[in-house]
Amino acid sequence: MLIIGGGPAGYTAALYGARAGLSVALLERLAPGGQMGTTDQIDNYPGFPQGVNGFELAMGMKEGAERFGARTISAEVTAVELAGDIKTVHAGKESYQAKAVVLATGAQPRELGLPGEAALRGRGVSYCATCDGMFCRGKAVAVVGGGNTAVSDALYLARLCEKVYLIHRRDQLRAPRGDRKRLEDTGKVEFLWDSQVAELLAEDRLTGLKTVNKKTGAQRTLECAGVFIAVGQKPDTALFAGQVDLDEAGYVLAGEDTRTNLPGVYAVGDLRKKPLRQIVTAAADGAVAAQQAEEYLSARP
Ligand code: NAP
Repeated sequence: MLIIGGGPAGYTAALYGARAGLSVALLERLAPGGQMGTTDQIDNYPGFPQGVNGFELAMGMKEGAERFGARTISAEVTAVELAGDIKTVHAGKESYQAKAVVLATGAQPRELGLPGEAALRGRGVSYCATCDGMFCRGKAVAVVGGGNTAVSDALYLARLCEKVYLIHRRDQLRAPRGDRKRLEDTGKVEFLWDSQVAELLAEDRLTGLKTVNKKTGAQRTLECAGVFIAVGQKPDTALFAGQVDLDEAGYVLAGEDTRTNLPGVYAVGDLRKKPLRQIVTAAADGAVAAQQAEEYLSARP
């Protein structure tokens, strides 16, 4: 069984697959953990009453799977051939074959689509507060979005930075109600409700933002050293398009049993069309996929 992607879904599939006696390899292009690996504090994965650092949890999941014989291969997958009994996964010059494949490539942060956004990436524009927040230590920063990622980024940045502007397009967070109070309690977060970023201001790096209030039309210019964009995700499934059925947004169409339209191919974690994308649901998918793959493989001649 070959697993593409080393987030919580991929490593749970590896753990369950290896424990079921399958020969398991997992391909990961960066560090283990996926998006979880770059989350500072995770408070909603059961069993950690004080919360847990995402990278530590990722390393624990990797080590746990490897203890039972799963192998991690550091490689970026460039093409896949998923139809047929033997599936081939290409990673540059190397290729790997397996009878079952688990797709666990997750999702990537969505961009705002502003002029200059791509050019300023790494120079004040960031999609990962825990990766880049320290470059803005003691300065003012902005976070865009109103979901769980925006809230956890703003809380993290409030510990490091002088001030955090939270810019959200509506007048209410998408994140749970209690989160607004947690943000207010930091004493550092200023909310810009009903607002969007109209322009990124920069010299050789970001110096500030222009925002506009969608209800009143009022404009503001904010000085800030960084903007952390947290406006949702897009699934990382381009490699599988044309082979595995996807919905209009690019999520893999697979049910709770994680089976795709192709026999022996399973979709787990954030790339699957599902109602709740969390670490705990990603891990659950991984366990189900390994069990499905084990049944599929043992039914073969
Ligand atoms: P999300 O829940 O989809 O939230 C995206 C936010 O960005 C929403 O507030 C949305 O506004 C806003 N938005 C979307 N497009 C925008 C645009 N073009 N311009 C301005 N704002 C825009 O995404 P997420 O916060 O990245 O979370 C993704 C998934 O991971 C969720 O299931 C989340 O629960 C989970 N997650 C969980 C945790 C945790 O529990 N610790 C941490 C991180 C992520 P509207 O509200 O108006 O739609």
